[in-house]
Amino acid sequence: MTDGVRVPPPALAGRTAAAGSSVIREALALTARPEVISFAGGLPASELIDVTGIRAMYDQVLTDEPYRALQYSVTDGDPRLREAIAARLAGQGLAAHPDRLLITTGAQQALTLLTAVLLEPGDTVLVEQPTYLAALQCFGQAGARVVPVPTDGHGVDVAALAEAVERERPRLLYLVPTFQNPTGQTLPLERRRAVARLAAEHGFWIAEDDPYGELRFRGEHLPRIAALEEAADRTVLLGSLSKVLAPGLRLGWLHAPAAVRRACVLAKQALDLHSSTVDQAVAARYLAEHDLDARLVPARALYRERCAAMLGALEGVLPQGSTVSRPDGGMFVWVRLPEGRDATALLPEAVAHDVAYVPGEPFFAGAGDAATLRMSFAGHPPDVIEEGVRRLAKVLV
Ligand code: PMP
Repeated sequence: MTDGVRVPPPALAGRTAAAGSSVIREALALTARPEVISFAGGLPASELIDVTGIRAMYDQVLTDEPYRALQYSVTDGDPRLREAIAARLAGQGLAAHPDRLLITTGAQQALTLLTAVLLEPGDTVLVEQPTYLAALQCFGQAGARVVPVPTDGHGVDVAALAEAVERERPRLLYLVPTFQNPTGQTLPLERRRAVARLAAEHGFWIAEDDPYGELRFRGEHLPRIAALEEAADRTVLLGSLSKVLAPGLRLGWLHAPAAVRRACVLAKQALDLHSSTVDQAVAARYLAEHDLDARLVPARALYRERCAAMLGALEGVLPQGSTVSRPDGGMFVWVRLPEGRDATALLPEAVAHDVAYVPGEPFFAGAGDAATLRMSFAGHPPDVIEEGVRRLAKVLV
């Protein structure tokens, strides 16, 4: 120590600037009170998590192969898990190969890896407006330039996208084409084709983030963009076991062209060496021994019922001039209150009435639409949803 002089440490890196308004964080912190009916979180329904089945898989894995399961393992991920996921994707119409898959610590890490290997600071990413909040954080922290493209209730507006591509020369387009977070909306097939053609013509990457696609409760399955011939060589598909098995396992994946995958493997070595060996072994065994598709049938029915309960309850209480999305799957409903209403300002009042949602503003790149909010119907049975919406009604009058 030199004569008591203390030089402060350097400031944090500029890219760590906190995202999201503190009003929202403070209000949502209060939703932990048990009396609050929260529509805020993006949590799958707890009653759908197969605790008995998962516990049995841990037992088997730790009995049959304890040292393999509790050792370090390869960065690529458990080959049995990659095979099981490739087989599921193939069954859904994507020519997937285990060697093109990288197992990640949730799809969130896949997004981080992709950002690290595809984007230099200052590079342009196009996103749907609004889009997944944590993707905005990820791109922002990497110093990318995020440019929003308008959506219209059926996903991204293709004419606006074509203009943005000409104008901005993006390196990456990030999309959640199916049951989007936060809007619940789905990109129709024709638009998927148009997006794929644009990527082929202009030479940008597409990140197709699809954690909700298997939760369709109405309508026909649509091919993924990654499955369309035009863009198969430039689309990275991100997937997850969070919404179909259990989010606490923190298991996701990316399916990418060989060179991108190789770069992601190297980036992952620097992040966490590999995702949890034991959890991957459990998931691989679970997929081998259970019929996940059969388990998803009642899951979809449950979400269909909860979505209908929320839409039905909202119908009676939203002020005139409001709009609500009508998702065909997933977990979210997106509400736009009449012009001039402010969902962020209303949140503390809602929480005081023991109900919570997420204001829509942070899901926007740049200036947000203050009149919007996201509500998850996944976490509560219909009677609780109806009670929560009744409480919300008192705040909306
Ligand atoms: N992408 C989107 C669009 C999401 O909504 C989520 C989770 N809420 C993720 C990625 C991350 O999922 P996980 O890391 O749990 O796989």
